[in-house]
Amino acid sequence: MENSFDNFFLAGLVKREKVQYDLEDKEFITKTATALLLIHIILEGIYTYSFCTPMIYINLVSIGIYLIEFVLNATGHNVIIVWIAHFEIYFHIIFATVFMGYKCGYWLWLFPCVLSVITPYFMPLQSKVQSVLANILVLLYIVTFIALYGFHENGYLPIGYVASDSIATFMYYTNGLIAFSYIIVYTTVYCVNIKENTNRLNNLANTDYLTGLYNRQFIQKLIYDESYKNVAIMDVDHFKNINDKYGHLMGDHVLIEIAKILSSHSEICCGRWGGEEFLILSKDSQSYDDFCNIIHDICNEISDNIFSYGGNDIKVTSSFGTATCNDGMTPYDLLKEADSRLYTAKNQGRNSVISA
Ligand code: GH3
Ligand code: MG
Ligand code: MG
Repeated sequence: MENSFDNFFLAGLVKREKVQYDLEDKEFITKTATALLLIHIILEGIYTYSFCTPMIYINLVSIGIYLIEFVLNATGHNVIIVWIAHFEIYFHIIFATVFMGYKCGYWLWLFPCVLSVITPYFMPLQSKVQSVLANILVLLYIVTFIALYGFHENGYLPIGYVASDSIATFMYYTNGLIAFSYIIVYTTVYCVNIKENTNRLNNLANTDYLTGLYNRQFIQKLIYDESYKNVAIMDVDHFKNINDKYGHLMGDHVLIEIAKILSSHSEICCGRWGGEEFLILSKDSQSYDDFCNIIHDICNEISDNIFSYGGNDIKVTSSFGTATCNDGMTPYDLLKEADSRLYTAKNQGRNSVISA
């Protein structure tokens, strides 16, 4: 339904980007699960090659777990996937250390494991329960790795399936390489992700919710940027009547459509100044005459447009006061002059631009 309340607000939200947590990123989870699955398939070959029977079976369980993760990802169980992966890695490291031998260097995984639990990239700590679980897991990792070292030093680890020296050396360097590559990739992705989210948040903070134009806070800052010399304040005529006669949703629709008209002029910079008022700026590279011509064009485009919403077609006009920054004028003086000209435009019958 074109004029349903929900659809209308969705239309207004189109320009608003969602800040996405990584846990909601199915594609990312699929890539990670695929990488882990591939690692375990390669490990299966190594365990078979080194005749480590227990690890051949344990690793098959790991492979099964990552296959299940694909299903869980498709069905939206994102949080559980991360926890399962953490525990799979945890137990795989313990079993591999116990059966393949301490020298294979599985303990090197302590560092990436702790990193990925304590940073919120994999584990945005959404609840107290999760936060407590993450802390417990970090403690568990540290205690387990110390215990494995102790068992190894005291000869408590079984020796029946221990890998030969050459395989142990190969595994040591392979584990080191993968574990530390993981840290590098992880921290890089983490930083890129934070940067993207910061950019998105900045955009949201500078943007008007309804129209997608700059908000007052942002456009106000631009006036103090000296390179913006020409200014126009625009006010929609008899806007209250539109709301009263056709409803607020029609009023909002008019504001959104006006914002589109303003945005179609690339030479100017526009923001929502207040309710039905907009501020338009242009740089000093543009002459005041050229700027006023654009404002006249906008005024005509608005009055020529038919605003259609909820089965009603209406015409809307707007009034403009413009000013240009002469020597010694402050941004405050500039706005005051534009505002008083807008007032004149209103008094002289509206639907006009007053520029001198
Ligand atoms: P004038 O020609 O003198 O400017 O008259 P006006 O009716 O446009 O001015 P007035 O200041 O009396 O009314 C402005 C109205 O704009 C009042 C307010 O309810 C409405 N308004 C402000 N923000 C919004 C908005 O985001 N959406 C809608 N629908 N209405 C808004
Ligand atoms: Mg007003
Ligand atoms: Mg008005």
